[in-house]
Amino acid sequence: MNYQAILNVIEKELANFDAGGKVPTYIPELAKVPANKFGLNLYCQNGEHFNFGDYDELFSIQSISKVFTLTLAKKFGGKKIWDRVDVEPSGDPFNSLLQLENEKGIPRNPFINAGSLVIADILISELENPKKYLLEFVRKISNDQTINYDESVAASEKENGYRNIALVNYMKSLGNIKNNAEDVLDFYFYQCSLKMSCYQLSKAFMIFANKGKILSTGEKVITTNNTKRINAIMQTCGFYDEAGEFSFRVGLPGKSGVGGGIVAVHPGQYSVAVWSPLLNEKGNSEKGMKALEELTSLTGLSIF
Ligand code: GLN
Repeated sequence: MNYQAILNVIEKELANFDAGGKVPTYIPELAKVPANKFGLNLYCQNGEHFNFGDYDELFSIQSISKVFTLTLAKKFGGKKIWDRVDVEPSGDPFNSLLQLENEKGIPRNPFINAGSLVIADILISELENPKKYLLEFVRKISNDQTINYDESVAASEKENGYRNIALVNYMKSLGNIKNNAEDVLDFYFYQCSLKMSCYQLSKAFMIFANKGKILSTGEKVITTNNTKRINAIMQTCGFYDEAGEFSFRVGLPGKSGVGGGIVAVHPGQYSVAVWSPLLNEKGNSEKGMKALEELTSLTGLSIF
């Protein structure tokens, strides 16, 4: 298949696509990003990659980082992490305070903020220096030592993260946060501030398309079974209250972030990352979703 020709069609077709929506103003640093950025990188199982536009430019990966932290929590926390976070779609926005009223403050899944904050708490308990470990892990699976946190984005969110502060404190009152609330928030804001390009993200996510193995080195970093589980949660919960819509239109497991990025994987075939900062009201990149819908329609390569 001529992937580059298909990507050229998508780029051209969407050049004047009116995404509507807005950049997230609740993280002031992200509101500064030019809304017209648009790039995509497709990374194939055979190591080939294809792209267009701003595919090589760094952006804030935000909630896409929740997939990396879940991967590490599963590795170090084992099965018992499922006693503290469920695996059901929530049908609520990513930052919702709802559905925590169960006695133990157990979030619906690890990809809503509440769930990822519990995962952050688990990593703080399991690892001596979770920030350093996470960064080294992401650099390793991307085979790229230049990847880093964005201190100004982390600080910007810390100053304005009232919702997340409320979530951590509420869950702590119910006994599902074990560490100091400030430490959990600090780690969470740092993980969200990771800056990566579509190229780097699609390369990193090849572990989920390649049964847990890093494509370039062959090293297995997640078991096949855990890869299956993480892909399943991406499929059902990766887009919050728009998970059904993404599944319906794109037909791949994936994860979005309020930085405007989306990554999706086709196990055994490819991983793809797209970036366009304007978000719809569910907090997902509208043009990014459209580009991926076109990709799976034109190639016929969705998982369904
Ligand atoms: N850091 C963002 C938040 O907690 C992440 C949300 C997202 O990307 N959906 O609000």
